[in-house]
Amino acid sequence: MASGIEVFTPVSHTLFDPADIINKNGGRPPLTYQSFIAIAGEPPAPIFEEYSELPPVGDTGEYELLPVPTVEELGYGDISQEEIPPFRGGETEALRRMKASLQDKEWVAKFEKPKGDPSGFLKPATTVLSPYLKFGCLSSRYFYHCIQDVYRSVRNYTKPPVSLSGQLLWRDFFYKVFFGTPNFDQIKGNKICKQIPWSENEELFVAWRDGRTGYPWIDAIMIQLRKWGWMHHLARHSVSCLLTRGDLFIHWEKGRDVFERLLIDSDWAINNGNWLWLSCSSFFYQYHRIYSPITFGKKYDPNGNYIRHFIPVLKDMSREYIYEPWTAPLSIHKKAKCIICKDYPKPVVDHDTASKECRKRMGEAYASNRLDSNSSKGKPSNLSRRKWSHGDHGASNSSIAKLLRTSRSE
Ligand code: FAD
Repeated sequence: MASGIEVFTPVSHTLFDPADIINKNGGRPPLTYQSFIAIAGEPPAPIFEEYSELPPVGDTGEYELLPVPTVEELGYGDISQEEIPPFRGGETEALRRMKASLQDKEWVAKFEKPKGDPSGFLKPATTVLSPYLKFGCLSSRYFYHCIQDVYRSVRNYTKPPVSLSGQLLWRDFFYKVFFGTPNFDQIKGNKICKQIPWSENEELFVAWRDGRTGYPWIDAIMIQLRKWGWMHHLARHSVSCLLTRGDLFIHWEKGRDVFERLLIDSDWAINNGNWLWLSCSSFFYQYHRIYSPITFGKKYDPNGNYIRHFIPVLKDMSREYIYEPWTAPLSIHKKAKCIICKDYPKPVVDHDTASKECRKRMGEAYASNRLDSNSSKGKPSNLSRRKWSHGDHGASNSSIAKLLRTSRSE
């Protein structure tokens, strides 16, 4: 104002103003979805002002206007040979996509996470609106508002945390926690993050990053990430669990960095929040529940169509062995023109042994976190005392337990 310029800073990227929610919660961010919902209420209505054209840039004085950087300038190398992701950018496409999703009122009314097929790639099981929300091509308030319109026109509909509007509330939840948590994106100095002594193993990390773990379900997801920049939520669960507390015991920050670079919906608050969650470093503590890299995907896609699409070298592997090609006899490998260790790797770890070891190490880390917390405060820590109040992002405790029970390694 001193210069005679009025500054207007609207909160428009999230449903609610993070500062407002934190104030209402006594100066601290709500650390559970339920406590967030209890405080939040209904989000403000979206602003329905339409602009027919952007104002001209005007005189920029001594500053030069630069063109949009090329993909190469952004450091992504030669992408000319890459498969083009099937998602187009921009607001027009965002609105078209949202309308197409919401047109199916029954689908919206029955939407229930974590139900939905993570292997669906020709027709993804969720809206794929995350990249548009991330880049501001779609307003989360407008999306929320349009979902409410659908709810008003049907008799019954699912409710948060599992419903479609509940997903947008998850998005806001992570924004609120990050806003009020110093060092939210790291283990060091992050009060809500369990201190777990993750291992260093560059070879295993690179195999995971490059989709060469030897587990086709995991590798197909990592290749989809590299090619499309988007994968279904439960696919993200599978690979982040395997990297961290499930099998490889590698630091969640390393996996977070890979996602941050490659996701087209890469979002600082949501990505970090979910990595904290999946690594059982915060929010979710049932570390003994581990996704099997073999049986989890098979449940949704027994023929392995998803694997065949993203890993062409396995396209002719027989249905019986598509999730575990290393167990097939040589005659099957030859018939499929895919020899294990030559054309496709064998598993970098044995899942049964590795997951058992991970559970043991997580148990030790949790015990040591409890001890540290007891000795520093003289009482049990909030983290260890806090009862797990909801299951997965959107799942009830019992539904995620059921989901994982069918895919547990033991
Ligand atoms: P829909 O199911 O259609 O949901 C609609 C919107 O709700 C999404 O677009 C998203 O904005 C929001 N939403 C849905 N699930 C979540 C969730 N669990 N947490 C927060 N918001 C959610 N999502 C990102 O947008 N950016 C990320 O960088 C990101 N990183 C992730 C990392 C890991 C390890 C995991 C497990 C999940 C991550 N997610 C991230 C959350 C989730 O997987 C995606 O938001 C979702 O898959 C996007 O697909 P969609 O738009 O079809 O979702």
